[in-house]
Amino acid sequence: MNATIALAGNPNSGKTTLFNALTGARQHVGNYPGVTVEKRSGQHTFDGCRFTIVDLPGTYSLAAYSLEELVARDFLINEGPSLVIDVVDAANLERNLYLAIQFMELGIPVCIALNMVDAAEKRGIRVDAAKLSAVLGVPVVPTVARSGQGKDALMKSACEMLRQQPTRAPFAISYGSDIDPVLENMVSRIRDAGMLSAAYPARWVALKFLERDEQILKQGRHANPALAAAFEKDVERLSDHLQKTLNTYPELVIADYRYGFIRSLLKQDIVAIEKGPERLFLSDKIDSIATQRFLGPIIMAAVIYGLYAVTFTLSEAPVGWLESFFAWLGSVAGNFLPEGFLKSLIVSGIIHGVGSVLGFVPLIAFMFLGIALLEDSGYLARMAFMLDRVFRVFGLHGGSLMAFIVSGGIAGGCAVPGVMATRTLKSPRERLATLLTVPFMNCGAKLPVYALLVGAFFSQQEALMMVLITVLAWAGALLVAKFLRVTMIKGPGMPFVMELPPYRMPTFRGLLLHTWERTAQYIKKAGTLLLSISILLWALMGFPRLPASEQDAFAQKKSALRAAAPAAIVTELEEAGDETNLSAGARELKERVDAVDAESAEAALQYSIAGRIGIALEPVSRLAGFDWRTNIALVGGFAAKEVVVSTLGTAYSLGEIDPEESAPLAEKLSETPGWRPLAALSLIVFIMFYAPCFASVVCIARESGSWKWGAFSMAFNTALAFSLSVLVYQTGSAFGF
Ligand code: GDP
Ligand code: MG
Repeated sequence: MNATIALAGNPNSGKTTLFNALTGARQHVGNYPGVTVEKRSGQHTFDGCRFTIVDLPGTYSLAAYSLEELVARDFLINEGPSLVIDVVDAANLERNLYLAIQFMELGIPVCIALNMVDAAEKRGIRVDAAKLSAVLGVPVVPTVARSGQGKDALMKSACEMLRQQPTRAPFAISYGSDIDPVLENMVSRIRDAGMLSAAYPARWVALKFLERDEQILKQGRHANPALAAAFEKDVERLSDHLQKTLNTYPELVIADYRYGFIRSLLKQDIVAIEKGPERLFLSDKIDSIATQRFLGPIIMAAVIYGLYAVTFTLSEAPVGWLESFFAWLGSVAGNFLPEGFLKSLIVSGIIHGVGSVLGFVPLIAFMFLGIALLEDSGYLARMAFMLDRVFRVFGLHGGSLMAFIVSGGIAGGCAVPGVMATRTLKSPRERLATLLTVPFMNCGAKLPVYALLVGAFFSQQEALMMVLITVLAWAGALLVAKFLRVTMIKGPGMPFVMELPPYRMPTFRGLLLHTWERTAQYIKKAGTLLLSISILLWALMGFPRLPASEQDAFAQKKSALRAAAPAAIVTELEEAGDETNLSAGARELKERVDAVDAESAEAALQYSIAGRIGIALEPVSRLAGFDWRTNIALVGGFAAKEVVVSTLGTAYSLGEIDPEESAPLAEKLSETPGWRPLAALSLIVFIMFYAPCFASVVCIARESGSWKWGAFSMAFNTALAFSLSVLVYQTGSAFGF
């Protein structure tokens, strides 16, 4: 026998742990078709039965409110696993069984793994598995996924169930006197018409019409338009009635009855709780402080700050190593390759571009480790809980917090993992609004640009400016989220109960696994398109080349300088390395030659495609106070924001500028006419809000499931940034700044 078994359950019920215990190393990780939700499957053999086990995404319900729920549901329906093992947290039966009931209603054979019985017992909760099995009519096997205890008994039950060829008899509960008659009437009409009967039980389809499940509504309308329209009218009428009499909706009544059913089941002496004053749960004790009204936010701020401090301190060294590694690689390649096109492509295009993104990997890995720690311990849920009210005002969700922080909410971060962090959000609208606004945060690549501009024009108020920049980013993100939620992503937020799972000691293995999975995603996603983008950018800034005659002119200028200098000095310069003490004359000659080089680099940049774009845009960008040089830098910044500094350096004839040591550039800018604090402020605003870097755009497109949103974020953000910059610049100019 070879059967497919789906592992399902609430998030954090221990599915993945059980999955690992069952399949060991025989795992395959892929994606569910068409979406970014990860699909793990593996093999398990027991007593002559071979099973393919699939770890479904964690869900609380099958209502299709979130991507995970849809994926889980589609898998159950389209792939028709022989059996679902529902992993249930023994300490939270009431909430966990809600999902089990829905599997049973869907008519899929279910076997319950009563997991975490160890943790439940520690809290004084004892569940009578045999009795629970009797009242539900499905096998219930106690397990401790972490130690593997009970997994053989579980598989034995599964084997037995499969051998008995379970029939797909859906399970029915009563939904009360308002709904039941309507439901029964719909069921018999569905049966008569055979509507969607190939895929779903009739009663389930009727329930989904009552719950106004968009997916099923669509399928129903397609299969039988007349009947679907009649049902929608019936549901409308029922909904009006419920609203008038009870001030409620069908979907809420249905949920209430399901919970009521579970509660009545559990009342039958299934759960024994020993609770004494001295047994007050540790989690509750911690929560009485950690989510306390005044202390809670203070603790949260401290935790976030700690996360940052630790992440940045720990990653500083490895980031430096990677940077030097790529610099070394570039210089080695530079020494071996002959001067010319190929060398420039490999060194400036490929190695430099890839290095600038891979250089972030240690930072991101540590950041993810910190997040995994918050998540696995249960504290993340508390943070989301505390901020939920604030975020809801802006059409977001408490769970959006982490995405903003990862993206640079406190300055320093990266929008790529930030966009990916929105996966923890269950509701599609809030998730989309979050992932479109996280790029406004001040990521690690924007910081050097701010540092340059603030240093050059606001050196008296540096700290104040950085605070202002942070506040501005948050205000922008929240207001844009609100704007999107009342326009393009309109619709009510999901009635989502904030869960407060018990605090747990994270396991080392779990932390590493979570960290590695996300870091690998970042490398994969940022890496695949990055190569082509860095090549494209290199080409934009390098082509077409200066005509040979102009190149010659610069070369001649240099030879002329050398020819004019005393021969001794030229020899001294040729023989000396870069670092040695030069005589005053040699130093002067070197400076002059370097100046010609920088001048030729500027001319080449101006001649390139990027340069022409920059010059062409100047009439428009003047409104915001940007000249062509700034424009080129901004075009470059689309590949990666830190490129802005180095490109400005080239454009101002200063040669390569190290973003970390930009003092000469700052000096140059502050001396250049046209540059004044107002122009710098306008540029800061623009950089904060304009198109996310390319890696982020790719991520946005992938995570939202559509290139439409990737394109939207580029166009919308740039338009917004430009309007704001023009506003700042023009208003400021009018007031004489
Ligand atoms: P998933 O979200 O359902 O995949 O849950 P995970 O498998 O990631 O487990 C969530 C947390 O619960 C992890 O920290 C596990 O180590 C822990 N865990 C899983 N099973 C058990 C168990 O049976 N007992 C205890 N005490 N902890 C468990
Ligand atoms: Mg999991």
